[in-house]
Amino acid sequence: MVTTHNLGFPRIGAKRELKFALESYWKGQSSREALRATGRELRARHWQEQDGLDLVPVGDFSFYDQVLDMSFLLGNLPERVQGFRGDMLDNYFRVARGRSVQRSFGYAEKAAQTAGATDVQPAVAASLSEAASKEAGGAGNAADSAFAPPVASGADADCCPPVAAGEMTKWFDTNYHYIVPEFSAGMTFRLDASRLLEQLAEAKAQGVKAKPVIIGPVTYLAIGKARDGSDRLALLDRLLPVYAELLDVLAAEGVEWVQVDEPILVTELDKAWQHAFNTAYHQLKSHRVKLLVATYFGQLQDNAYLLANLPVAGVHVDAVRGRDDVLPLVNLLPSHKVLSVGVIDGRNIWKTDLDATLDWLAPLAKKLGDRLWLAPSCSLLHVPVDLASEADEGASLDAEIRSWLAFAVQKLDELRVLARALNEGRDAVKAELDANRAALASRRRSPRVTDPAVQAVVKAVDAAIAQTSPSLRPDQRLSAHAVRAQKQAAILNLPPYPTTTIGSFPQTAEIRLARREHKAGRLDDAGYEAAMKEEIARCVHEQEALDLDVLVHGEPERNDMVEYFGEQLQGYAFSRFGWVQSYGSRCVKPPILFGDISRPQPMTVGWTTYAQSLTQRPMKGMLTGPVTMLNWSFVRDDQPRSVSCRQLALAIRDEVLDLERAGVKVIQIDEAALREGLPLRRAQWQAYLDWAVESFRITANGVQDETQIHTHMCYSEFNDIMAAIAAMDADVITIETSRSNMELLDAFEDFRYPNDIGPGVYDIHSPNIPDAAQVVSLMQKAAERIPAAHLWVNPDCGLKTRQWAEVIPALQHMVAAAKTLRQAA
Ligand code: GLN
Ligand code: ZN
Repeated sequence: MVTTHNLGFPRIGAKRELKFALESYWKGQSSREALRATGRELRARHWQEQDGLDLVPVGDFSFYDQVLDMSFLLGNLPERVQGFRGDMLDNYFRVARGRSVQRSFGYAEKAAQTAGATDVQPAVAASLSEAASKEAGGAGNAADSAFAPPVASGADADCCPPVAAGEMTKWFDTNYHYIVPEFSAGMTFRLDASRLLEQLAEAKAQGVKAKPVIIGPVTYLAIGKARDGSDRLALLDRLLPVYAELLDVLAAEGVEWVQVDEPILVTELDKAWQHAFNTAYHQLKSHRVKLLVATYFGQLQDNAYLLANLPVAGVHVDAVRGRDDVLPLVNLLPSHKVLSVGVIDGRNIWKTDLDATLDWLAPLAKKLGDRLWLAPSCSLLHVPVDLASEADEGASLDAEIRSWLAFAVQKLDELRVLARALNEGRDAVKAELDANRAALASRRRSPRVTDPAVQAVVKAVDAAIAQTSPSLRPDQRLSAHAVRAQKQAAILNLPPYPTTTIGSFPQTAEIRLARREHKAGRLDDAGYEAAMKEEIARCVHEQEALDLDVLVHGEPERNDMVEYFGEQLQGYAFSRFGWVQSYGSRCVKPPILFGDISRPQPMTVGWTTYAQSLTQRPMKGMLTGPVTMLNWSFVRDDQPRSVSCRQLALAIRDEVLDLERAGVKVIQIDEAALREGLPLRRAQWQAYLDWAVESFRITANGVQDETQIHTHMCYSEFNDIMAAIAAMDADVITIETSRSNMELLDAFEDFRYPNDIGPGVYDIHSPNIPDAAQVVSLMQKAAERIPAAHLWVNPDCGLKTRQWAEVIPALQHMVAAAKTLRQAA
């Protein structure tokens, strides 16, 4: 008999109940007891939904973040909150969210900048203070944003001084962000299993076959940061006794299996970290519970031997992304150990091919017998909760597309079907298998998925790129940057240190209201268009008054930089409730790229030419690049990512060429998410960068020499991807730099980056208004590294989360600074 289990269930709730309960509590609108009750209800409901599995995860529920829960479990609270009195849950939120009175850089706000479907799309790690984020009035993009800063009031005010939030970063290559554990050389750990035991007791009372889930000691150390630069591995000896104590406590509760997550095993590990695995699990082996060491998100490769031979009762591997590991692992695995294979994709939303999976599983089942376990590839935290919600009134996915999809609840149904087929024979689930087969066939055959015209264009472009004459390659500019720059200068006539902005201007309450009313049908198309044009005109006039050199239209018509384009492309669909937790109460709703991508008609030309008609100054066309579209979507599993990316590239290329034809002289193609698509293993970086950069080049490089291409990236680590950045060959790249004091330009200097750069001169995540002298001094630092003739002056990122009252003085100072620099030049 095969055993079925789940690694983790999404906790936000099918209707984001947890989000709303948290935000209401944080605003002081509901009690702690009400929040706790919502937590209990969600856990109970989610266990119910996992009914019928042989083992169900417990401890995967969290009020904010499972890594932060682990830190609390291990008694690893940052020193700065250790003196806090009062309720433990409040203390927990203080670490999670910070409690600031001063205005500091706000992660949430940064996330709002980078956007991605309605809630918020975080882009990079940063320290979090939601307090700062609120000044912008929420995510700046649509409904899902209202929540208040942690306010100091009542007892809280005298118990605790302002405190910085824990730093946040991406959980492996997912869009989930965890609170980074903090370490220092002298620290100690102390078990506090209360939260886990509480959940365990609830599960027992409900009759759940509970399998507690914890993060393993090696991964816990690996994903944290030593504040004092000390060696994290040196803490292992102090950490292990606490894990051992925990296992004893769980054993005393009658727990048989504990799932210990060690996803770090799918990354490249040096000797010391490999050794830590052996040390850790040898020390933990004498305890009475059985350990299932779980890995996911990638391939084990040369860590397979290490995993197979750890002294534990079982291991779980990701058989979606790491399928090739499985058979070798079976041969390595000592014959008493359980092998759990994650055969259902926990990172995507497509139905599993049950026939094919059963064919693949059959010999494994034969060989392993009772030792074979089945599960999703990883925790279902990374997919939406329940597809059934999409059939509700007002939902936007049609029945055909729905029939191809499986969210968390449906994935567990698939798991049950697979197990029954293996245990009782496929006839026992004939109806289910037939239905699955029919759904897959419908997807495969659908003309909405396969578009011969798109495939023909892709083929032609492949052939053209393979051909050697550069002048005929579609991804290649006609001349080198130096030549283009001269032709562009003759047309654009810009001063030294030209000034520009990154695209968006404040998304005001009026803009959001107009969008809502339009969506609801209460504002007709003409009324909506007029409202947007009025905003565009306002942006243009403000920029002229500011005396900026290259203008933008301000992006009022965009709720979100990916969704806006996805909605206009063939091959994209949008769910209504397909929310996935990004961090804390924040969720994203990634668009679904389901079919061959094409662009039925221009997407931005009307707005851009209208904006251009209002001014003599150059107006930048503003597009989202193919790699960012891809990385912020659920994408097809029936073709490589690189192919989907190339289709996106061709569709956006059409837009670029239409803009050029319409007389637009400067076109910016944002690639905010290019870096975050880097694979977990460094050895695979180059392959990704190759196709990602090629896609960008296809999009951008079909234009004449005279057309100036900009790109924008809002992050600051370029060192290890410099060659790829240069290969994109944008005439101008604008980047985030202000907080690094221009030091990150070292990478560009060392590389002798030949094209133009606009290093951001002020941090748009903060409401602070830079003064001109600051900007001058930053640009002087920039000019020490980059030839002044190559420098532009601009903010770090778009201004959509700011207020006009902040934007105007900030840009005034920026323009004044540029004028000062010109005089000195
Ligand atoms: N053009 C976009 C804006 O200004 C860029 C956003 C981003 O880089 N995340 O909002
Ligand atoms: Zn940006």
